Amino acid sequence: MIIIQIFCISRTRLENKIMSTSFVYHALGLRDQFYKRTRFLRGAVIIEVFPKPEAIRCPECHSRSVTKRGTIQRDIRTIPIGSKPVLLRAIIQRIWCPFCQFVRQIKLSFSNKGKSYTRAFERYVIELSQLMTIKDIANHLRISWDTIKEIQKAHLKQRYKGIKLKNIKRIAIDEISIGKGHQYLTIVMDLQTGRILHVDKGKGGDALKTFWKKIKLSKVQIEAVSIDMSPAYLSAVVENLPKVPIVFDRFHVVKLFNEKLSNFRRDLYNHLSDSDEQKLIKGTRWLLLKNPENLKDDKKEPERLKKALEINQPLSTVYYMKEELRQIWNQPDKETAKKVVSNWINLANVSNIPVLKKFAKTLSLHKIRILAYYDFFISTGPLEGTNNKIKTMKRKAYGYRDFEFFKLKLFDLHNKKYALIG
Ligand SMILES: [Zn+2]
Repeated sequence: MIIIQIFCISRTRLENKIMSTSFVYHALGLRDQFYKRTRFLRGAVIIEVFPKPEAIRCPECHSRSVTKRGTIQRDIRTIPIGSKPVLLRAIIQRIWCPFCQFVRQIKLSFSNKGKSYTRAFERYVIELSQLMTIKDIANHLRISWDTIKEIQKAHLKQRYKGIKLKNIKRIAIDEISIGKGHQYLTIVMDLQTGRILHVDKGKGGDALKTFWKKIKLSKVQIEAVSIDMSPAYLSAVVENLPKVPIVFDRFHVVKLFNEKLSNFRRDLYNHLSDSDEQKLIKGTRWLLLKNPENLKDDKKEPERLKKALEINQPLSTVYYMKEELRQIWNQPDKETAKKVVSNWINLANVSNIPVLKKFAKTLSLHKIRILAYYDFFISTGPLEGTNNKIKTMKRKAYGYRDFEFFKLKLFDLHNKKYALIG
């Protein structure tokens, strides 16, 4: 809190100087600088400062027995006063150190080497980053987008330079598609905390290579992994975590079956000779894929679905089997679920419908990984829940242009209290 007292009595120049040195110390955190004067230029406040004697020391050996060798001047952004940008016009002393035998500039205590802003300014930007997008902060502080990004990046890099894998137990691995042109990212999430642990380009096992390395180094004991049924992730997990149980994501299993159902309907429609039958099946794709509890009565969806199913026995069977498939994950325990799976496989085989028989094979092959759900109750669902956030971030323009930054922002995603991501 800055308390500005207005005195009616006039002060001497010296008093002014002391008070302002005190101001730059208390308000701007400049411990080793004297205040010289303030100027106002194009809406900005320019505060001129010069170093106190204790600041004049060798940047290397810190000796104060140095000889002055001229000065240079630099403008350094610091925290604004109200809505006014504030620049420190710093007089920087050059010194000759007899011990180090060189001429150098003294080290600035209030900004990092080579930066055009103070550490206080950096902290302020980081605080604002919790609430505002980069664009908003840049507009608010009247500084470039790139500067805000640079500050955020340096901060995140420091924060996530070594992601701790020590206490990780259950993870999900999945790919997400971002933008056009089939760009994919492979993402690993800690299912307990929702933290993103690893990000890489692509959707194959290659995208996980550095993750396995980190796992090995950290000697962490992972309890279970949730993945979809894609062979790429499956073989990568089997190879790198051979003893860890795999849980096939339930939603992906149903999704895979839905694709089969959808194709089945399309083929059926194309092969129907009766145009009346075609009419009934036309436009039923979404009704077939919808969960029955979500069918809308007012749009006569249950009725339309019923009619389509009535006229075609095989379609009706495949649809019924979709509903049965979903029941695998709604059982009271693993034993009962096991029976549901076996029953499904039997029904599929007696149905004599190729698509069902084929899916029955997939189910029997992966039975253990499907039923492993009942040991851990995990899925890749939470990871998919972040998809929209990630896509928004990608749209905000730093996707692949600076992949490292994009990655850091993903690691930081769980920290966002608000939906504002920039
Ligand atoms: Zn020295």
